[in-house]
Amino acid sequence: MKVVSTVNELQYLLKELNLSPVGFVPTMGALHEGHMSLVVNGIQRCPIVVVSIFVNPTQFNDKNDLRNYPSTPEADLGLLQKIMREKDIVFIPTVQEIYPEEDKRKFLFENLDNVMEALHRPGHFNGVAQVVTRLFDIVKPDIAVFGMKDFQQLAIVKALVKQTGNKVKIITSPIIRENDGLAMSSRNRLLEPEIRKHVPVIYKTISAAAEMINDNDISKIKSFVSDRINKEPGLKLEYFEIVDDIELIPLRKKSEMKRDRHYVGCIAVTAGNIRLIDNIEIGLV
Ligand code: AMP
Repeated sequence: MKVVSTVNELQYLLKELNLSPVGFVPTMGALHEGHMSLVVNGIQRCPIVVVSIFVNPTQFNDKNDLRNYPSTPEADLGLLQKIMREKDIVFIPTVQEIYPEEDKRKFLFENLDNVMEALHRPGHFNGVAQVVTRLFDIVKPDIAVFGMKDFQQLAIVKALVKQTGNKVKIITSPIIRENDGLAMSSRNRLLEPEIRKHVPVIYKTISAAAEMINDNDISKIKSFVSDRINKEPGLKLEYFEIVDDIELIPLRKKSEMKRDRHYVGCIAVTAGNIRLIDNIEIGLV
């Protein structure tokens, strides 16, 4: 694989290779098996894949979170080296390279940017939209792979692609988990060992919530989740919502469920001082 840090180098290589479709996997580094599954997905579909590693400052509403965000560049390249092919490219730009000038663009996503993560991380998805449009403009991918782990981000990216008329095809990859069920995340390595012992309850709880849907109403399921999470030492529930996959409208009653939509239970928990998110498909049988 080739490793480049400037837009010029990247675009030069892509032009020289002249392969299509171009696959793209944007990441913020501190890579794990979840990221690797996205890269493999891209490799299976495309003769050339670009993986970007860029911690995007504009999507961090909390500057402490940005400062503490893990960075493991050597390990990242080691992992990518194992699976990427000779022609594939790792793009590791500086902030200056992505934002030569301050990005003042404001994006509108209606309800998508008015629920769940958006309420707890104001401005986060505007930053996501800024970096995604910028990276798409630079890489010009035919296919981009995103993880189901960031379910709301995925809905935002799909809406963004529609709004901008970009022809890129968005592919979704399933959530990769640790053996104990914890969804893999770059932030997991920041968990204190004592707290780490308790976080598998997050996936256990949303799995139980998914099982409850046939015989219980939504408010019962929500109070079950909140009681179970909040009684676990070190954990605090930020939200649990069951939303549809298009508009992300939180369900209040089962009767609101539409046949042509998929429903997903989305959770955010603070574990010590680390925020973790996860989700699970919820379907009536
Ligand atoms: P990040 O580096 O956290 O910005 O994530 C980069 C991409 O990897 C996003 O599309 C995430 O949804 C995806 N991703 C992160 N964790 C996982 C996971 N455990 N399983 C699958 N995809 C993931």
